[in-house]
Amino acid sequence: MKGVTILGSTGSIGESTLDVLSRHPDRYKVIALTANTDIDRLLEQCKQFQPEYLVVADSGAAEKMDVILRGSDQDVKLLSGVAGLEEVASLPQAEYVMAAIVGAAGLKPTLAAARSGKRILLANKESLVMSGHLLMEEVKKHHAELLPIDSEHNAIFQSMPVNFGKGLSKVGVRKILLTASGGPFRTTPLSQLDKVTPEQACAHPNWEMGKKISVDSATMMNKGLEVIEACWLFNTDPDRIQVVLHPQSVIHSMVEYVDGSVLAQLGNPDMRTPIAHALAWPERIESGVESLDIFSVARLDFEPPDYDRFPCLRLAYEAMHIGGTAPAILNAANEVAVQEFLEGRLAFTGISGLIEKTLKDVTPGTADSLETLYEADQQARLTAKGMVNAA
Ligand code: NAD
Ligand code: MG
Repeated sequence: MKGVTILGSTGSIGESTLDVLSRHPDRYKVIALTANTDIDRLLEQCKQFQPEYLVVADSGAAEKMDVILRGSDQDVKLLSGVAGLEEVASLPQAEYVMAAIVGAAGLKPTLAAARSGKRILLANKESLVMSGHLLMEEVKKHHAELLPIDSEHNAIFQSMPVNFGKGLSKVGVRKILLTASGGPFRTTPLSQLDKVTPEQACAHPNWEMGKKISVDSATMMNKGLEVIEACWLFNTDPDRIQVVLHPQSVIHSMVEYVDGSVLAQLGNPDMRTPIAHALAWPERIESGVESLDIFSVARLDFEPPDYDRFPCLRLAYEAMHIGGTAPAILNAANEVAVQEFLEGRLAFTGISGLIEKTLKDVTPGTADSLETLYEADQQARLTAKGMVNAA
């Protein structure tokens, strides 16, 4: 029996994780569940899964939850804030930690899980983008396991030789083919993109996800963040990663070897597959995902990405090439831009411009400590917000 902490249990990945866990009560026990503000959903999850701990990150929501729990028959410890998240990421009885908080807020609890030597099921790509070097170091130092949940990285992991940590050249890998659906605006006339609404941007053709990653998919910043994520996970530079538009989202990514072989992982676009894979690895368990009907898929299309349509993808490659704190600046500016877009203060086409200007304005430094990374993150957020307010 493995104990599992789910950071961000009320989100899209959190809910999918609980769905998989509910199919295997003999293998996994839920130890802790966490949310930022959605205490109603957290309480429902608490009643169903009977965890030992709940964390409500937001202090106001945590106070409300405290009152609710006092009046209920739930026997559960309530914690709050980042300290609470770090505590449940480090509990000895939770050997597995699902890192499914969205954005930079996920970094500290993920680091805590790494320092406690956990199996980390990493959905929170922003923590690797922001702090890849430090996070990978902590994983190594504390013998933690890092298993990718992002469907592409999980597919790459499944298509890689076991000893890929030695370096891709040493194990005969030529390149990684990172697939992307192209999101809802792959074929929308460029002249109409400035009128795109948050509702349209969040309506992804193949995947159901949280709002932030849905907008990231529409701008293809999501793929940019994934290029950076792949560099850290698979110890490679960005030039070995080719983004491939594949509108059907059936191939989740591919690995090309020096002998010309290309290995791919296919499946229905449902996050329960990578979640079940990472939970059970190296074994396999049922995930609830339907069999892939290859005949109804019928065809698989591939296109090179269009960097004029998707400037965010180019910006992510550039930030990774610059290195140091540049990816953290990119990530912070993107988080601000997405929020401003969702709240109606920035046009869809303004997202990439805001990130590009922030990258020009904030000078990147070396990413040698968490403090320097948070400084870069804060400076980028202030700069980006200042630009929106001045506009
Ligand atoms: P979501 O918005 O649906 O859920 C986010 C979760 O994080 C919620 O439980 C929320 O309460 C919590 N949260 C938000 N802000 C917080 C804060 N400041 N402090 C503590 N908790 C906070 O997001 P999601 O779609 O489930 O995505 C989660 C992560 O997984 C993201 O990093 C995303 O990029 C990644 N991911 C998601 C998918 C997907 O299909 N949804 C696929 C691949 C990767
Ligand atoms: Mg992905």
